Amino acid sequence: MASIEQDRWSRVKGRLRSSVGEDVYSSWFARMDLESVQSESVQMSVPTRFLKSWIQAHYAERVLSCWQAEMPDVHRVDLTVRTAMRAVAPAKDAAVAADAKRLERDNRPPSELRATATAPVSANHEALGGSPLDPRLTFASFVLGKSNTLAHAAARQVAEGRRGDPVMFNPLYIHAGVGLGKTHLLQAVTWAGNSGTERKVLYLTAEKFMYGFVAALKTQTALAFKEALRGIDVLVIDDLQFLQGKSTQAEFCHTLNALIDAGRQVVIAADRPPSDLESLDDRVRSRLAGGLVVEMGSLGEDLRLGILKSRVAAARAHHATFDVPAPVLDYLAKAITHNGRDLEGAVNRLLAHSKLNATNVTLEMAEREVRDLIRPQDPKRIKIEDIQRVVARQYNVSRSDLLSSRRTANVVRPRQVAMYLAKTLTLRSLPEIGRRFGGRDHTTVLHAVRKIEALVGKDIALNDEVEGLKRQLQDQG
Ligand code: ADP
Ligand code: MG
Repeated sequence: MASIEQDRWSRVKGRLRSSVGEDVYSSWFARMDLESVQSESVQMSVPTRFLKSWIQAHYAERVLSCWQAEMPDVHRVDLTVRTAMRAVAPAKDAAVAADAKRLERDNRPPSELRATATAPVSANHEALGGSPLDPRLTFASFVLGKSNTLAHAAARQVAEGRRGDPVMFNPLYIHAGVGLGKTHLLQAVTWAGNSGTERKVLYLTAEKFMYGFVAALKTQTALAFKEALRGIDVLVIDDLQFLQGKSTQAEFCHTLNALIDAGRQVVIAADRPPSDLESLDDRVRSRLAGGLVVEMGSLGEDLRLGILKSRVAAARAHHATFDVPAPVLDYLAKAITHNGRDLEGAVNRLLAHSKLNATNVTLEMAEREVRDLIRPQDPKRIKIEDIQRVVARQYNVSRSDLLSSRRTANVVRPRQVAMYLAKTLTLRSLPEIGRRFGGRDHTTVLHAVRKIEALVGKDIALNDEVEGLKRQLQDQG
């Protein structure tokens, strides 16, 4: 694709990111790719049907207007679903080029290179209705670092269990931001757990759970679906934050309870802790929090370097002439701080570029190729507890005063300020904030937000206080 289009696309992504915020962007748009640009329309693709319908339902206008800001003539934005794997034609120049391009786009190796040993596991797994597994995402390729040691140890433990063993922690709930290795770890559990014949491990995305269930209901086989699920030794559910809809959640709740009560293992990944899954009802939330909850933190530089090296080694197994010199690896590990997906993308681009042009990888090439993967430092994710702590300290009250029902002036104002900050500095909803402030109603939170909004407009002293608190919260850490 012409680089002018790529540049435009980068700018559109930038606009989108600042318009919806980093969290929303990485949940919904990180995997959106540009396919082609015509004078009045733009074609983009996403990896799943679910993403497509979600983006169309919620963000169609936003996406269009971001394009129009770059290209005023664009009147239509089409979204398609990329097929997961495309067949690769026998090597000719064009085929190599297409392959390299596809590599870059899909971040996946050519299908012919996939390990054949994984085929039976994969076939069994898909026959059970599981989501597709990526043969590269195993324990062997999972690099250990400070941020993931505990999650890895717990996942291994689960994968190595035998049928009938007592279950140590149930569910195992792993949470982390985008691209920090949740899917990798969950699929590793699935591969490892299914490699014997004895146990059945089923990996489902929340999306697949929803569609599987909804489809089953339509064909009146909900019972069969439940039965099938109950024949599973380990149920692995990825991206739980995408579970939507009351009936799906009720069914999820039943399934979870049935499995746990029957001593089956459940493993879950999500982008936030159970307490922040706002749309889930309290019983499910507490059931989820009742097992082992492990967070995987951001990837440290050593871990990033390790991931890069393992990716390069994997690529070299099939492209013997490909190499990335140590200074380039160091540069990438320092520059690409955001997530594992971008690290993988960077290696794929270097591979594509060096194959297409038959040149060696240099630092200069790397700088040029990964420019758009380098982001300014992420704004820190601020937690409601931090806000409560900082506000309590500032006003010399206790955190429990803020959560209490006391209505004396010396706690009412700090409490309102804290709720206001929670609304403006986090992505939490009003009901969620109310819940975290001693179970208050969302209208109380709304009232506090409006009140402080109005006051900071005219009360300079309060305005300074609030700005000072914001700075403290943003700089901490
Ligand atoms: P998530 O599901 O948390 O969004 P993924 O599991 O899809 O993230 O990871 C994104 C990319 O980063 C994948 O290519 C994955 O293999 C890689 N990755 C993340 N963490 C590790 C790790 N510890 N070791 C090896 N690769 C990793
Ligand atoms: Mg994932």
